[in-house]
Amino acid sequence: MGFQGQNRVAVITGASSGIGEAIAYGMAEAGFRLALGARRKERLEQVAQQIAERWKTEVYIAELDVTRRESAEAFVKGVVGHFQQVNILVNNAGLARGTAHVAEVTDETDWQEMLETNVMGVLRMTRLFLPHIQTSSSGHIINIGSIAGHEAYAGGSVYCGSKFAVRAITDALRQELLGQPIRVSTIDPGMVETEFSVVRYHGDKSKADAVYAGMQPLTASDIADCVVYTATRPQHVNIDMIVVKPTDQA
Ligand code: NDP
Repeated sequence: MGFQGQNRVAVITGASSGIGEAIAYGMAEAGFRLALGARRKERLEQVAQQIAERWKTEVYIAELDVTRRESAEAFVKGVVGHFQQVNILVNNAGLARGTAHVAEVTDETDWQEMLETNVMGVLRMTRLFLPHIQTSSSGHIINIGSIAGHEAYAGGSVYCGSKFAVRAITDALRQELLGQPIRVSTIDPGMVETEFSVVRYHGDKSKADAVYAGMQPLTASDIADCVVYTATRPQHVNIDMIVVKPTDQA
């Protein structure tokens, strides 16, 4: 038997679309109070509106760019000021940019954006929220990694590298926090149909659509189910890692 939200406060980064948005709905349904961050505030407002129409839970939204330290600090201050407590941090904000081979790259902008968002963003948000989570008797950090953190592919050196890093960060953090009532988990999805591929191909919709051709990808709510399951186990149960792929994906 798991335990539901019980008014615990869950922070979700990158909650303006895709997996983060679906996690917000799943956690709202499970009775968590929510703090949602992303750069597109108008999209967060729509998510908060959806939640208000379907569940009674309290939702705080604020602009957040995990690659900018001042933005992250302001977000944390706002969340803590609003709720006076934080129990769960879901580090979901992330992206891929391009599929260029290392030898083809002349401009490092895409590399930098992936590493700043997927690696530095996870470290930064964890560092800033940890002192607040440490005052709770039911803390939990849930990182959204990827199957790309287990299997690298040509054209994915930096994205895969960033998700291998998320796995390493998760494992190290779990050991660093041993003995404290804080669980540390990673959820590692295979292909999920979201705006991810549109972002990866810089808005080229036909390239993005081709990614899912001939297969049935996961939906964002399939991943939200895994997160909600992980978050609602009793506190003595730590789900270290869930790897979840479409049945069609090798
Ligand atoms: P989406 O593009 O739909 O969502 C990405 C989210 O991250 C958006 O809410 C975006 O919000 C946010 N984000 C991106 N950059 C920043 C930033 N600098 N600061 C704050 N928020 C940011 O893709 P997904 O939902 O698919 O991706 C969510 C996570 O899942 C990522 O970590 C991704 O790597 C991972 N993943 C996705 C898979 C897939 O196949 N889709 C497979 C495996 C893992 P905004 O632009 O408003 O800031």
